[in-house]
Amino acid sequence: MGTSWNEMVFGPVPSRRLGRSLGVNNVFMKYCTYSCIYCQAGKTTNLTIERTTFYKPEILVNAVIKVLENVGNVDYVTFVPNGEPTLDTNLGTEIKMLKNIVDVKIAVITNASLLYRQDVRLDLSSADLVSVKVDSSTESVYRILNRPHPNLNLRIVLDGLHAFSREFQGDLITETMLVRGVNDTAEDAAGLLEILQSIEPRVAYVMLPVRPPAEDWVSPPPANAIEAFLDVLRGGLGKNRVVLLGRLEPPHDIPRSLGDLDRILNHIRSVVHVHPLKLEYAIRLLVSNVGVAEEDALRMLLNDPSLELIHYMGQRFLRLRSPPQR
Ligand code: SF4
Repeated sequence: MGTSWNEMVFGPVPSRRLGRSLGVNNVFMKYCTYSCIYCQAGKTTNLTIERTTFYKPEILVNAVIKVLENVGNVDYVTFVPNGEPTLDTNLGTEIKMLKNIVDVKIAVITNASLLYRQDVRLDLSSADLVSVKVDSSTESVYRILNRPHPNLNLRIVLDGLHAFSREFQGDLITETMLVRGVNDTAEDAAGLLEILQSIEPRVAYVMLPVRPPAEDWVSPPPANAIEAFLDVLRGGLGKNRVVLLGRLEPPHDIPRSLGDLDRILNHIRSVVHVHPLKLEYAIRLLVSNVGVAEEDALRMLLNDPSLELIHYMGQRFLRLRSPPQR
């Protein structure tokens, strides 16, 4: 099967953490070391901790450069695939190649599970920003939430995280997904705080499952539980170092001048390739960029064979109809 650029590069999308971010999807769907219950890319089909090669670095880097030429400046090129980016043995090479060719900052969003490996820490050392996942402080919650590869355990992951936080010279941030009834208690918050204080991220981001998750029963905690959780973190890290990302990104601003109808549809498909997208957002993109009526935009999206409509928490989303088989 051939590889199209929108399997490898998507966006740019506005991100509260990263500004205008061009996404790089450097692993095949869905290779991951975890199969998180809240994953918006669905269940993991290739649960592995073996690093391997996915795309040829020059092909992936050329795809990024080509898209950058069309979309103009971005704040970050971000490795944020529908899987775990550090499974890619070429990650370090790709980051270095990109930094040699274009003047752009590189971010990597990783689940941190392979940071116990020196080669992974070395690959990430060339990035400007690394976001690491820390969802839980106990083995039992870790196994329920992240459903890791059997050879992983929380001790190994935290040891790797500590080693990385000592070595990494760039901007280190964390992300924690809060799931109702799983990791949302005061004890969960206290355990998490202890870990965060030991790795000292610039900012600890707390996220909520706002897009359709891998498991239907996953939902955000109630508002009072979220506030209580944040209060514990703020008490230990300081108010400005704890940020709740509790709404959908992209938020309200609709990028304009993205190009003609084909370009907009490709943009929508490339984002949906990585995570479900709010139907209303996709409609607004088409209406404001191409000038079509809302009903026509809706018809185009629902007739697109690569997209399907799903509902989550009272909202409508577009999802990739069937993941590519490899
Ligand atoms: S949320 Fe991230 S770490 Fe978890 S299964 Fe999905 S891609 Fe893997």
